[in-house]
Amino acid sequence: MAHYGMLVDLTMCAQCSGCTVACETLYGRPPGESGVHLRSYERGAFPSVKRITLPVQCMQCQNPPCVEVCPTGATYQDKATGTVQIDQSRCVGCRYCMTACPYGARQFDPTSGVVIKCTFCIQRVADGKDPACVQTCIGHARTFGDLNDPTSDVSVAIAERHAIRLNPELGTQPSVYYVF
Ligand code: SF4
Ligand code: SF4
Repeated sequence: MAHYGMLVDLTMCAQCSGCTVACETLYGRPPGESGVHLRSYERGAFPSVKRITLPVQCMQCQNPPCVEVCPTGATYQDKATGTVQIDQSRCVGCRYCMTACPYGARQFDPTSGVVIKCTFCIQRVADGKDPACVQTCIGHARTFGDLNDPTSDVSVAIAERHAIRLNPELGTQPSVYYVF
């Protein structure tokens, strides 16, 4: 069984929104309905305040609150890939999952009436390709692979760069790591 994960190295991120556009383009969605969003945060306290811009997407949590609240089973954990997916044919658009997600990683698509999010481009991965955001990243800020394989590029990079996950205190166990 694989456990796919991603590392985003913010020291390499050009904040160009290429990942956002690649996602929208691949899935034929209008601007703003990407699985990846650039968000700005302030770190520190005045006068030592720093603004950082962070690409945020579904963290592919190993302990995902979105799965627990879904009343139809549309949102589920795929054991073969260690990812969280949405069966859109079962989604009734109740948006409970959007409320449960602490990362704001989900969006309601008014056209289809269902919730959407990053899927780690799992169809591309099954074909041996990287997710679209990884392939398109001009800064090579993104590394994708199997976290269960300690020799994979992503596992080695996470260990060597002392990467961290967002909000570890929530206990969600994200599969997306960051280097600040
Ligand atoms: Fe679910 Fe949000 Fe975690 Fe993604 S980031 S698995 S949508 S709780
Ligand atoms: Fe499940 Fe869809 Fe409701 Fe989200 S909006 S909880 S995926 S049925």
